[in-house]
Amino acid sequence: MASATDARYGQKESSDQNFDYMFKILIIGNSSVGKTSFLFRYADDSFTPAFVSTVGIDFKVKTIYRQDKRIKLQIWDTAGQERYRTITTAYYRGAMGFILMYDITNEESFNAVQDWSTQIKTYSWDNAQVLLVGNKCDMEDERVVSSERGRQLADHLGFEFFEASAKDNINVKQTFERLVDVICEKMSESLATADPAVTGAKQGPQLSDQQAPPHQDCAC
Ligand code: GDP
Ligand code: MG
Repeated sequence: MASATDARYGQKESSDQNFDYMFKILIIGNSSVGKTSFLFRYADDSFTPAFVSTVGIDFKVKTIYRQDKRIKLQIWDTAGQERYRTITTAYYRGAMGFILMYDITNEESFNAVQDWSTQIKTYSWDNAQVLLVGNKCDMEDERVVSSERGRQLADHLGFEFFEASAKDNINVKQTFERLVDVICEKMSESLATADPAVTGAKQGPQLSDQQAPPHQDCAC
């Protein structure tokens, strides 16, 4: 039977016992910042591609190990809808983590970060975690957004910050692993304090009366 932990933070499919948790992660940001490249770089050939043609959204699955937990990541990438800001609210549903990306050589993509952040806060689960990523840090000569500005914006929004390069494979794996760790930390914290924001969260996985009380000893 699914535990309350699973109900809150992911699904444990009875048919697949090869993971402890499943996290839905979204990569968002302006068009051309490198979201698809970033996902391909990370997923490499050990992914399971799926294409949801009706909504034009793609996701890949990758299982990683963090602190003795097998965590299955379902990482979603938009198929260009971000250009028109027509990402549906369904896309955000159930997402536990976001990589909010801009391009360090593109001021406009940086200026859009605030808007994307507002979208996340509006449509996603209250406990969803966000990492701000300035991609294309290999293009130092064309940089228009300094690291300092990136960091300041991240601080202002309450997100952690990385500069990365999908092209040169800089900080790609680290970004995903840090995001998973932050989700796990939040999860332990919420379970320990029985944060009402969890159970009362909009669009978040809900607890039902039938389910067991939360584990207090999550070591994730
Ligand atoms: P998306 O629209 O956000 O999914 O962006 P794409 O992944 O399609 O990338 C847009 C363009 O930026 C492509 O030409 C990529 O080759 C290029 N690109 C993506 N990531 C990097 C990077 O880290 N460095 C450099 N130099 N180019 C990149
Ligand atoms: Mg893309």
